[in-house]
Amino acid sequence: ATKVNQQTKTEIETEVISDIPRKRIGLLGGTFNPPHLGHLIMAEQVCTQLGLDRVDFMPDFQPPHIDPKQAIDAKHRVAMVQRAVMGNPNFGVELTEIKRGGKSYSYDTMVELHKRHPENQYYFIIGADMVAYLPKWYRITELTKLVQFVGVKRPGVKVHSSYPILWVDTPEIDVSSTLIRDKIAKHHSIRYLVPDPVCEYIEENKLYGKR
Ligand code: ATP
Repeated sequence: ATKVNQQTKTEIETEVISDIPRKRIGLLGGTFNPPHLGHLIMAEQVCTQLGLDRVDFMPDFQPPHIDPKQAIDAKHRVAMVQRAVMGNPNFGVELTEIKRGGKSYSYDTMVELHKRHPENQYYFIIGADMVAYLPKWYRITELTKLVQFVGVKRPGVKVHSSYPILWVDTPEIDVSSTLIRDKIAKHHSIRYLVPDPVCEYIEENKLYGKR
């Protein structure tokens, strides 16, 4: 009787899982300090070229690789990401790393997301500069089994990867958050380099020393 019950339970579980629509979700992890046109263009291209259901922008709480003091408060980065994705039905925001706090290891995040949505398939989007760092990522071998990495070229970055990467051809955009912060420091315009609502948010909150 136990065996039969066991079998029935497994069948029911399988049935329940297969009833949930399977989604192909792109994840664009980053510090978004601040988000810029490079992020939006790459996300839109990957989403449409791979036919994903959507791309979620996933701000980290604390990137494992840089000095946390360099990035502005998570609350501002989240607010800017929300404004950046506004109005595009292909885009969403994933706040798992912000809610978890601490250092944002992608492996921990993917274990959490897979537990929550075992039916989903995840495409982890990274710029070419990140590809070079993959061997240093926490539990990278296990992580490659949880996600499909998607690579996007970045000007001036040559890449070779020992991990499987699905490359998507997008226009190379020579914009970075560093460039935006530098422009603000020099009192140059950042209009058209970041979406208008992000530009307004930076001005209203006087971020990065913006006057
Ligand atoms: P910073 O200049 O502060 O290092 P960033 O512009 O690289 O920031 P992140 O938020 O760290 O922005 O980037 C998130 C992800 O998007 C990373 O995988 C990064 O490689 C990628 N990315 C950012 N800008 C571009 C771009 N212009 N072209 C391709 N990939 C990009």
